Amino acid sequence: MFGPRVIQVEPLVSARGVRGPFDYARPDGCDVGAVVDVPFGRQRLRGVVTGLAEDSDHRLKAPTAVSDVSLPPELVRLALWMADDIVSTRARCLELLLPPEGVGERTRKWAEPVVPGDPADPADPWADVRLNANQRALLDRLPDWAGDDLPALRRLEGRGLVRIEERAHGRRPDHAQVGGLHGDGRTAPPLNPDQHLAVGRIAAVLADPDAPTRERRLLLHGVTGSGKTEVYLQAAQRVVDAGRTVLVLVPEIALTPQTVARFRRRLGETVAVLHSGLSKGERRDEWWRLRSGEARVCVGPMSTVFAPVSDLGLVIVDEEHDPAYKHDGDPRYDARRVAAWRATDAGAVLLVGSATPRPESWASLRRIGLPRRADGGEMPAVRLIDVRGTRGALHPEVHRALADARKAIVLLNRRGWATWMECADCGHTWECPNCDVSLVLHGGSSASGRTRGVLRCHHCGHQERPPGRCVTCTSVSVGQHGLGTEQLAEELPGHVYRLDADVRDRSSVLEAFGAADHGILVGTQMIAKGHDFPGVELGVVVDADATLRFPDFRSQERTFQLVAQLAGRAGRGAGAGEAPARVLVQTRSPEDPSLRFAARHDAHGFVVEEIERRRTLGYPPFSTIVRVVCEHPDEHRVQAAADALIVRMPQDTMGPVPLFRRQARFRRQLLVKATSRAATVAAVRDAVAAVVDDNAHRGVVLAIEVDPR
Ligand code: ADP
Ligand code: ZN
Ligand code: ZN
Repeated sequence: MFGPRVIQVEPLVSARGVRGPFDYARPDGCDVGAVVDVPFGRQRLRGVVTGLAEDSDHRLKAPTAVSDVSLPPELVRLALWMADDIVSTRARCLELLLPPEGVGERTRKWAEPVVPGDPADPADPWADVRLNANQRALLDRLPDWAGDDLPALRRLEGRGLVRIEERAHGRRPDHAQVGGLHGDGRTAPPLNPDQHLAVGRIAAVLADPDAPTRERRLLLHGVTGSGKTEVYLQAAQRVVDAGRTVLVLVPEIALTPQTVARFRRRLGETVAVLHSGLSKGERRDEWWRLRSGEARVCVGPMSTVFAPVSDLGLVIVDEEHDPAYKHDGDPRYDARRVAAWRATDAGAVLLVGSATPRPESWASLRRIGLPRRADGGEMPAVRLIDVRGTRGALHPEVHRALADARKAIVLLNRRGWATWMECADCGHTWECPNCDVSLVLHGGSSASGRTRGVLRCHHCGHQERPPGRCVTCTSVSVGQHGLGTEQLAEELPGHVYRLDADVRDRSSVLEAFGAADHGILVGTQMIAKGHDFPGVELGVVVDADATLRFPDFRSQERTFQLVAQLAGRAGRGAGAGEAPARVLVQTRSPEDPSLRFAARHDAHGFVVEEIERRRTLGYPPFSTIVRVVCEHPDEHRVQAAADALIVRMPQDTMGPVPLFRRQARFRRQLLVKATSRAATVAAVRDAVAAVVDDNAHRGVVLAIEVDPR
């Protein structure tokens, strides 16, 4: 055999204790990215080849199996980088990149005639063969046949007249989930002058292989409705035509079916879709279509950034401001950061788009602007309504506007019926037994009398029946407080469509509202995301202070985005000359800069001021934040671990700060804000490893999050 003799294998085990890679003898043709089964102690483990070596100090065993699945080498590099970057393990990062396990290729029986003699001979090849009429008809029909023909075919196979074999038969996600190939939008519309300029600038960078990285990272800052998707489509088309591949990230597939459908219609079968709503088999087959190069574009949510494509030419991140790009679970990666890494690694162009870009992107990317709506319509007029000293959920002016509007969108960022229950006599509140939070009433009703529905914890799923009387003082006056989307939906007039995390089929709600002639869409922040509905005359923010009060350095940014994005849903398709749509924002802080900039549609002004504020306070992008949360059911043990950790953490780490108890676990948070990302991440990794390895703190869970959202 030629080349290195040793493969370095990272076993796919979740324990942080097992740190590879381990050396094995290299089978023929086994390269970086191969998935292998290896003997490991007494077990057999699945692993990925992460490197090759000439020699090893160990006596080498050979893998017991080499899988058909293999990762492109750039994805192996990606996993190794990511594990370091976010302090996860290599195994967990590699696992993200592999196709779903436990589903084989789907096959189908395939039959074809074995023609006796010369098939080119025009004479009937079957003339000399004894066949009855049924057999003859069956042969003529091949390769099409019905399942109940199999016995007859088997008999013909026995006579050597037919060949039957198992062939791969790819599963394709059905069109309802990924968007059909037919309908409007198959051909590119003429671009308006702004779009034309934008595509031209992107094309120039795509065509210049020598452009340095900083010039290959582009921010498409287009106001809502400016036609960013059309720019993505035409840029993607160029890359596909040049024989390279494209990744297109969207925040959440159920909320952005239109974007996916538009890519499928324009670019056709070369578009693959990867998301968790597909069956395992469908995901596996889409994975293979990408891996084999049959599909050259992958559209989907954050995990699309791990699509197994080579020859990457363009990575698009739509609605880049959306916090959904930060993965909540382990590994806690940020798909936007991974997208940038992949683009740079491949020499591809990164194109992120938003009407409300993050300060991080504004400060570091080359900007391309789309300052006007594509349909020539005006931006809606946004009015801040000071609700200090008023009663009731909706201001009278909002009531009037809702009665006048044909179609409206109403945003309230609290799901459920009522967010807490409290005894009017003694002040007792109903809390989750496992978490230090109020239970939320779901399925309530406005009829007086016994409270209906169920009390539910939003953190652990605990449920109980709502109280008939107070458990402390037996009073029957138990009040419901904190209006939620369910209750608001019931109070609004006319036809109401509700959309929040409790609604199962979100795409259907969106579709129904989109198609409706009139009605109100009420829901949490997901109603403000990227949708393109014509004819929405009114947008309402019920409680703009909800995000503003949130104790986080991003609360200004979030508030601005929420209002600006909601405004972005209104007034689409109205066209030039028509009365502009309106947005009404209820707030108790009408002087707040984030609201004032949003009311003026001034993303530029907001982000410039926000960047200055962050610079002064030393927040990202001028620093990196690393957060460590310790968790354990025993409060003393979690405190002890946090105390042991803080002395090992970098100087000026803040904490340990108690967080509310969740899922019956006490929690302590340590936070460090530092200018040198790599050094800080490394220091935190070492500190955490020391505490994890210390038997005194066994069982305490330490979760590290770099750039928490
Ligand atoms: P954004 O993503 O910037 O909010 P969209 O891509 O949803 O905007 O486009 C807004 C609307 O404008 C869509 O209905 C789209 O079909 C339409 N549109 C975009 N570009 C053009 C164009 N060049 N000519 C006509 N209509 C366009
Ligand atoms: Zn009471
Ligand atoms: Zn709970």
